[in-house]
Amino acid sequence: MTIAPPEEEVHVCSHESCASTDTMPCYLGGEREPDDWYCDDHISAAGFCKGCGMFSVGIESFDFSAIPGFCAECVDFIHTEEAMEDEFDDDDWGEGEYPFADEEDYQ
Ligand SMILES: [Zn+2]
Ligand SMILES: [Zn+2]
Repeated sequence: MTIAPPEEEVHVCSHESCASTDTMPCYLGGEREPDDWYCDDHISAAGFCKGCGMFSVGIESFDFSAIPGFCAECVDFIHTEEAMEDEFDDDDWGEGEYPFADEEDYQ
């Protein structure tokens, strides 16, 4: 006998005639259990945020989001992440300002 690996729950996209199982949970309210599952292609059309899965259509900040398909909270989150990446990319130290710069190190 073979030991089957633990089965991952598979959820098919709730969109009519879509068979994608590459879905994410979607929530109509504050429930812990998802109301629907949608794939990336259909989640926006169904009115759910692509980032957190919350039903967001009709909310101005979502309908006119800076990043279409994402609610204000997720946009904030994405911007924060980008800002952090920028910080890491930037070389903020100017010439001769390295905190560890000791003349001995630069022979
Ligand atoms: Zn779909
Ligand atoms: Zn969101």
